[in-house]
Amino acid sequence: MRTIPDRVGLMRDETGTLTRRGRTELLLCYPNSYRVAGASLGLQVMYRLLNARDAISCQRAVLPEDALSDPNAKIRSLEHGMAPDQFDAILFSIAYELDIPHLPMMLERGGVPPLRADRDADAPPVIAGGPLTQSNVLPLAPFVDAVVLGEAESVVPTLLDALQDRPDRATLVARLDGVPGIWLPERHGDAVPDVLVARGEHIPAVGQWRSPHAEFADMALLESSRGCPRYCKFCVVRAPASPMRSPDLERVLAALDLPLYANAPRIGLVGAAVSDWPPLVDALRAIVERGKGVGVSSLRADRLDETLVGLLAAGGYRTLTVASDAASQRLRGKMMKGLRERHFLAAADLARGFGLKGLKLYVILGLPDETEADVDELIDFCQRLRAKAPLTLTLSPFVPKLHTPLAESPFEPIASQQAKLERVRRVLGKARVEVRFDAPRWAWVEYRLSQGGAESGLAAWRALRDGGSWKDWQRAFAEIDAHDQGEERAAVVAAQRHGLWALAGAR
Ligand code: SF4
Repeated sequence: MRTIPDRVGLMRDETGTLTRRGRTELLLCYPNSYRVAGASLGLQVMYRLLNARDAISCQRAVLPEDALSDPNAKIRSLEHGMAPDQFDAILFSIAYELDIPHLPMMLERGGVPPLRADRDADAPPVIAGGPLTQSNVLPLAPFVDAVVLGEAESVVPTLLDALQDRPDRATLVARLDGVPGIWLPERHGDAVPDVLVARGEHIPAVGQWRSPHAEFADMALLESSRGCPRYCKFCVVRAPASPMRSPDLERVLAALDLPLYANAPRIGLVGAAVSDWPPLVDALRAIVERGKGVGVSSLRADRLDETLVGLLAAGGYRTLTVASDAASQRLRGKMMKGLRERHFLAAADLARGFGLKGLKLYVILGLPDETEADVDELIDFCQRLRAKAPLTLTLSPFVPKLHTPLAESPFEPIASQQAKLERVRRVLGKARVEVRFDAPRWAWVEYRLSQGGAESGLAAWRALRDGGSWKDWQRAFAEIDAHDQGEERAAVVAAQRHGLWALAGAR
């Protein structure tokens, strides 16, 4: 495992750091490691936008590598080593449900009371945003003063106006009340406003930093397109919730002349549906012709051909990564995935033909109505793929998410998920398929936070403080279940009651 340097070392090795100071000082926190933070293009965009005014500056903080093992590990800003309680406001970008308890942990380790109710009037306001806000935000309620929902670019000027004279928490909340896309838990309760969708002028998102210590080392991230034109039933970025927005090729290529990209060894094109972006091949050609490596965040098997895979191979792409998402053709159809076996078989041929290491296939297990016959089909199909190219199968348990047609679907019990995973792994292991999977018990935690209300956020914080083991999580959720039978699906219930937002993506 690579050793991550200390704060000073990280800043020494990073390209694109902003070190300016303003009269109003903001802290942008990412409740996960520096390595993971570097893979978030949205975080990079916010860092730049929050530094766009002379009077306001923004530093970053991440979860230190030893934060979970060392209770004395402190949170300090990356740029100047300042504690969170020295800032005028603290903002969080949250990507995953399991990062939710890291938010109060970062506050506590930075000298700020983690619970909103325990903070006095002069404590810095705490504002959250990020990809998680496209789904369930209710568990954030105990910790934050405000949440920006969805794609935040358009509301940043309003946010900066509200923050510029260093308002106290109550003043800030009063200023933000009624701003579209901003949820104020204290005032709005569980009536969460609609999610923001960015206009074309904000697309493509352009990166701000790159680092050899980020997930994609020394890769400069650049958005190709935003949203998706498709309707997969389990997905929070399906077209009704996040429509496809495709910038012209020229707009994307213009970014390559910026210093961040001009000097980068590799360019990563980011988007939920990169291979549905019409000029993708031309963009890849332009990048490869500049002598740079390429990465892409998503590929659909039915969009692959020799030209596309040839360019990816020329740009150093090593494993062709595609998603079936469902275990069988029947389920792919039900989920509106729009892909057939022949697309994946052709992808395996292309991977082998261009000398790639192989094919990586993502599959969700436990989708509604899945049967053992669907799992049998997956096993058989993977064996046929393996006959064509080395195969890595990555299995994830299905977690129903708000803003999707499957929001109210059940979560398959952990034991039955585990049995399926073991069966797939046992059989395919003999067939020399590498099988990786996300543990069902942590998917269950994700499910609870995807569906729960404020109590589930508090339970997550308790579980982490108690040690963060599986038993701690079980106990924390058992405690709230004993008191409140409705908590497990509180977000769905609230959405139905308000008729506002949870099922919007189902339209
Ligand atoms: S799973 Fe992929 S293709 Fe389907 S809606 Fe989501 S982003 Fe689009």
